[in-house]
Parts: sequence; C-alpha cells; structure tokens
Amino acid sequence: MKAMILKAISAFAQNPAPLVPAELSEPVPGEGEILIAVSACGVCHTELDEIEGRTPPPAFPVIPGHQVVGTVAARGPQAGRFRIGERVGVGWIHSACEACDACRAGNENLCAEFRATGRDVNGGYAEFMTVPEAFAYAIPGLFSDGEAAPLLCAGAIGWRSLRLSGLKDGGSLGLTGFGASAHLVLLTVRHRFPRAQVFVFARSERERAFARDLGAAWTGTTDEAPPEKLQSVIDTTPAWKPVVEALKHLAPGGRLVINAIRKEEGDKTELLRLDYPSHLWMEKEIKSVANVSRNDIREFLELAAEIPLRPTVEEYPLAEANRALADLAAGKLRGAKVLRIA
Ligand SMILES: [Zn+2]
Ligand SMILES: [Zn+2]
Repeated sequence: MKAMILKAISAFAQNPAPLVPAELSEPVPGEGEILIAVSACGVCHTELDEIEGRTPPPAFPVIPGHQVVGTVAARGPQAGRFRIGERVGVGWIHSACEACDACRAGNENLCAEFRATGRDVNGGYAEFMTVPEAFAYAIPGLFSDGEAAPLLCAGAIGWRSLRLSGLKDGGSLGLTGFGASAHLVLLTVRHRFPRAQVFVFARSERERAFARDLGAAWTGTTDEAPPEKLQSVIDTTPAWKPVVEALKHLAPGGRLVINAIRKEEGDKTELLRLDYPSHLWMEKEIKSVANVSRNDIREFLELAAEIPLRPTVEEYPLAEANRALADLAAGKLRGAKVLRIA
C-alpha cells in the first residue's frame, strides 16, 4: 500500500518535506481489530507538533494522521461490530486500557496507556490502517468522507473544550485563535447555546471577518479588550501571549481552557508579565484539555449531524501531504485540510 511516512524529527522551516512516500505491506487486523481502506484523512496541527518533536512519536518510521474516514476492508478474529464495506471513522484515541480509574470514570483520554493514532501507532496517511473496532465510529450519512474527517479531531476536541469551559446558555465565551477547531466551536455554541455571546480574538482581519460571518458578537486582535469581562475563554493558539491576555479578560470565577497539545517556546517570556491581582485573583481558573475520549467523538458526530455542521474543506492528494502541512503551517486558506486517498 502507498503511505506517507515520518522517519525522524526535524524543523519544518529547514525541512519542508518531512514526510516521504513509501510502499508498505498492508497491515493485518489483530484480535478485535478492523482493517480500514482509508478514503480521507484530515491534516492537523498536531502533525506539525509530531514532526518538530513537541509531541514526538515513540518510534520511527510512523504513518501520521488521526482524522480518518474509510470503509471496513477486513475484520480480525472476534471483530464483528461493523459490516465489511461499512463506513467508519477513527480519531486521536486509538486505544486506552479500559480498566484503570480514569477509563472507568469515562476519562479514557487521561489513561496512562492512552495510545494516539498516527503517533503511537500508524495512522491514516496511507491506503490502509488497523484499529480496535471498539475505537471506531459509524459516520452519519449526510457527511461526505472529506467533510467527516475534520469533525473527528478539531470538532471533537472543540466539543470537549466547550464542555470543560462550563458555558451555559446566555453566558459569554471568548475564543483566542480562529482555526479549524474554534470555528466549529462557534457553530456548535450557536446551535447548543443560542443566547450565549461569543467573542473572538484573532490575528488576521480575514479570520475576524470569518468569525463575524459565523455569528461572533465581537471580534478583535489579541491586544484589544472585549466590551465585557468573559465567563470563560477557550485558547487554541500555539502561543503564550493570548493566555496572559485571556486571563485579564476573565470575569471573577471565570475559567480559561487551554486547548493546545503543546505550546511553542517563542514568546514564553510573556508569562513574566503575569500580574496576580489582574490575571489570577478572584478565583480565576486555568484548565488544559488533553486528548479526546470516545464519548467526545460520538457526541460530537451526533451533534454535527443534528446542526447540521458541514466544515469547509480543502482537499489534497496523499502524495502532496507535505504541501498540505506547509499550507496549514502558513495559515493559508480557511477551512480544514484533508488528504483524499481513494
Ligand atoms: Zn488533531
Ligand atoms: Zn485506562
């Protein structure tokens, strides 16, 4: 099968083609696993974090990709949940132990044995992949393969962040950064909490205009202050300055949710500006978001079908995965990037 593989960590700026094409043998599904013929795989910022070593794969080479849509091509022993040919999706969670306290409490995203698709095990930048059938999802019929792919990561993690923010109808929510995840959060808020107001902080006027088109009550740059203090803020940027600014804009008792797997080091000195009275006092909280659970993905797929929420998608052939990553890194084009594989 054809795949795009990562062989080592490197800086994207120095090595703009970190993934190399490879011809590999088709994986064989083990006990309880299914083999998926991949048709589309979303391209995520986390791939850049893997390539540059902020969340390094434990072994090389590895096939990245964790927003996978395809059809069941074969079933391993004891696998019978899906029919051959049935359409399924796979997200960031490839498996967890299903037995520890975190798993039993429904927080399998916090399991010590959490294994990530496309980092700890091979993912969807390939014609085939395997996954335990218990960690695959039926895809609602109204979505095309390309539309469904970004729902599996950006959408599901956005949904988890939104739940952790504690937003209620009529409340206020800030979003710092307005990429794939934040734009799905805004659309979800409008459906789920129609009286809530969303305030968007984004660098470019194009992103701010996009946010206003989608119903943001206010938009501004990271340096601007919103017209009111906010009950919660979700940060989806790779930087530190938006974190410090967001804390300043929180209302008493407000919560900042940081939805980023790793932060870049570039502007870390911004943290030295932290001022206890204005940024932290009054019982302000900071909570990070780690991974996703199966429930986040299931709930979000249902919600997305109900809204219905159809992401804007830009498709690339598998062989041009490096170009898709470069466009993502450069913040080019709006909407989600998806590799079209079959
Ligand atoms: Zn992702
Ligand atoms: Zn566990």
